[in-house]
Amino acid sequence: MSKIKSAEIKIGLEVHCQLTNLKTKLFCSCSSDYREKEPNTLICPICMGMPGTLPVLNEKALEDAIMVAIALNSKISERMLFFRKNYFYPDMPKNFQISQYDKAGGVPLALGGYIQTNGKKVRIRRIQLEEDPGKLSYEGTIESSTYTLVDYNRAGISLIEIVTEPDMETPKEARLFLEKLRSILEHLGISDGSLEGSMRCDANISLKGGKRVEVKNISSFKEVERALNFEITRQKSLIERGIAVGQETRHWDEVRRITISLRTKEEEQDYRYFPEPDLVPVIIPKDQIKKIEQSMPELPDERRKRFVEQYHLSPQNAEILTHSKTMADFFEESAKLYDKPREISNWLTGEFLSYLRDKGIGIDELTLSPKHLVNMLKLIDEGIISRKMARSVLQDMLLTGKMPDAIVREKGLEKILDREYVRRIVEKIFKENPQAVKDAIVDKKAINYLMGQLMKTTEGKIDPKMAGEIIRERLSELSKFATS
Ligand code: ZN
Ligand code: MN
Repeated sequence: MSKIKSAEIKIGLEVHCQLTNLKTKLFCSCSSDYREKEPNTLICPICMGMPGTLPVLNEKALEDAIMVAIALNSKISERMLFFRKNYFYPDMPKNFQISQYDKAGGVPLALGGYIQTNGKKVRIRRIQLEEDPGKLSYEGTIESSTYTLVDYNRAGISLIEIVTEPDMETPKEARLFLEKLRSILEHLGISDGSLEGSMRCDANISLKGGKRVEVKNISSFKEVERALNFEITRQKSLIERGIAVGQETRHWDEVRRITISLRTKEEEQDYRYFPEPDLVPVIIPKDQIKKIEQSMPELPDERRKRFVEQYHLSPQNAEILTHSKTMADFFEESAKLYDKPREISNWLTGEFLSYLRDKGIGIDELTLSPKHLVNMLKLIDEGIISRKMARSVLQDMLLTGKMPDAIVREKGLEKILDREYVRRIVEKIFKENPQAVKDAIVDKKAINYLMGQLMKTTEGKIDPKMAGEIIRERLSELSKFATS
């Protein structure tokens, strides 16, 4: 149907990520723990840009950024520079942002690199350190707002900016890239990607025959996919009607699920980049990089390989589990409690994941611990519940956070373990189906009908092995009786 093939779509991402492991801002000692704080209380003359103040680089932020560059296979600059990016939105009290630049003599923290995701290599263009701007709140919608509120608590928080080459061809690839990036940052312990707003993303997308459109400030991975899908449809329809797609910046409206034109894109010269005169060039010695490299935590790719070797998981399952650190941790903790890693991995990548996808939530949003899963596996292994029952117990457990043995007790599911109870039901079914019983005595295959009746009456909450045993026992008693 569509005239635009995926190969004719080019998507690049610009990801901003707060370094949430840091206690203070990038250039001052204000607390970076700004969530749920009174607006404009975590500020000082430095992050407010008062005359006569001087910024001082947070060394820990630099170390974090170096770790990211190593993890993304980027080339770290020996001598990096900070640049001023000038602009006139009210979100930076100084009217400029201390950032980095890769043109006009600018040298960012790192250049090049890549992330491998699902067999696809997405190249990194650059990685830089910069300040987060303050937070603007609009009254009503962004277009109709008559006033804007600003909170500078966020202004000056350490951000790393990661810019990719336009190597992605579908919105799904963009989402997978972001998920992989988040998993890497989580494994490095420098960013909690699950926190609202700690990872933000701008996406640029161009279709063959059109100009590059940038979509700003997308807040979640699901939204990235939605926003890009919307843009593909919008741009396609323009191109097919012979209308030119102009270069512009658009805003993603999550509520209405559409993009809105914000402005025609600034030219880079509008930002009047120039070297930050208040900061000296930062020399990054080789042995510092080496030291950081040696103390790096395990990354998702290494962990994936280890999962295959140590737990004998399939490469696919190992990939799915290490896609998020929380999921990988959940798996390993469960495997420590119960030595059935393959079984655990199958439940997590199967039923667990489809539940999470259905609800559109992450595993960290569940009120569950590995103990819950292990408890359920033990109930199966001890024959207390069947696999089929386990699925419904699991749904209950995911929904309520209750322990599986409590769910089984509450619902009276364990009654079915009671052989006497099953025998009584078998007796009742035999009485109601005398012909079927006669048939089953002479023809073993006819037993299936009785089994079916038993399963129906007990709503399948019964171990088929035990059910078969009891029916056969009773039939052989009856046949002895009949022949004697
Ligand atoms: Zn400050
Ligand atoms: Mn930026």
